[in-house]
Amino acid sequence: MYQEKIEEIKAAIAAADANNPEQLEAYRMEFISKKSVVGQLFGMMGQIPNEEKRAFGQLVNGVKQAAEEKFQELIEKVNSGSKASKSQEIDLTLPPDNEPLGSIHPLTATRQRIIEIFERIGFNLSEGPEIEDDWHNFTALNFPENHPAREMQDTFFIEKNPDIALRTHTSSVQVRVMENQKPPIRTLSPGRVYRNEAISARAHCIFHQVEGLYVDENVGFADLKNTLYHFAKEMFGKETKVRFRPSYFPFTEPSAEIDISCLICGGKGCNVCKGTGWVEIGGSGMVDPNVLENCGIDSKKYTGFAFGMGIERITMLKYQIKDLRLFTENDVRFLRQFSPLMT
Ligand SMILES: [Zn+2]
Repeated sequence: MYQEKIEEIKAAIAAADANNPEQLEAYRMEFISKKSVVGQLFGMMGQIPNEEKRAFGQLVNGVKQAAEEKFQELIEKVNSGSKASKSQEIDLTLPPDNEPLGSIHPLTATRQRIIEIFERIGFNLSEGPEIEDDWHNFTALNFPENHPAREMQDTFFIEKNPDIALRTHTSSVQVRVMENQKPPIRTLSPGRVYRNEAISARAHCIFHQVEGLYVDENVGFADLKNTLYHFAKEMFGKETKVRFRPSYFPFTEPSAEIDISCLICGGKGCNVCKGTGWVEIGGSGMVDPNVLENCGIDSKKYTGFAFGMGIERITMLKYQIKDLRLFTENDVRFLRQFSPLMT
């Protein structure tokens, strides 16, 4: 009979488990202590016939040993478990997990750099609305009635008669500044502009410009050139050359496109500059006297220059970005490459 009971106890020991000190103590009470089932087996010795005592003793000792081995095993298990749970406690002395930081958008970095360069030579910052009326976006800037920019296919109109449109350039801010301030004026107006263009690698319906305006007595074309020479060297490097190409804008006279020597080939000619050695960064010119008068500034006494540059264009040249659409696609693989610009 006792063999069966011993087998039962052995099976119970093998199946026993403990995950905490309380369960460990329950095991000890059940299988190790004097009052345990194993302890009780020893008490049975008196009832065992003499010829079986030796075999019974061996069996009971075997059970006792199995119970003790299992107990050691469970002690180790419970102890290592409590160590693991300790390691999950908060250690206030550890350095924090670094939250991944984003990076400055390349257009923001370029805009900031342009502002820094011009602020150091006395330009302040000015802003205007992105939704403009006809006067500030076109008429005050000397745009003739039949200018193509006034057409629906080139400009996003919100209302017609009177015309309200998304501004097509930051030049509208010139008008707002000159209407509200008296010369000397030296101001820089960065901002978002809108044109009704198909989106491609080289064009977008939304982009950014930065407009510069300097109005005072005796401001001449030499001041314009010197200011932009200074800018180009600061922005693109000391070796950068600047070239002015005659052009036409309604609001400046004379007008000139601003080219810089190609940053890729240094002027030798490559596919970025289409073999010419020059790349365009913006337009410029002397403020047309009509524009000054439209804004209430005496064009006999004051002259001024203005320039406008595309922030996307400058960023693409500076960082050799080939597709304009990358700026607005929010692909972190693209944006992450500019994380060094944060410093
Ligand atoms: Zn080139």
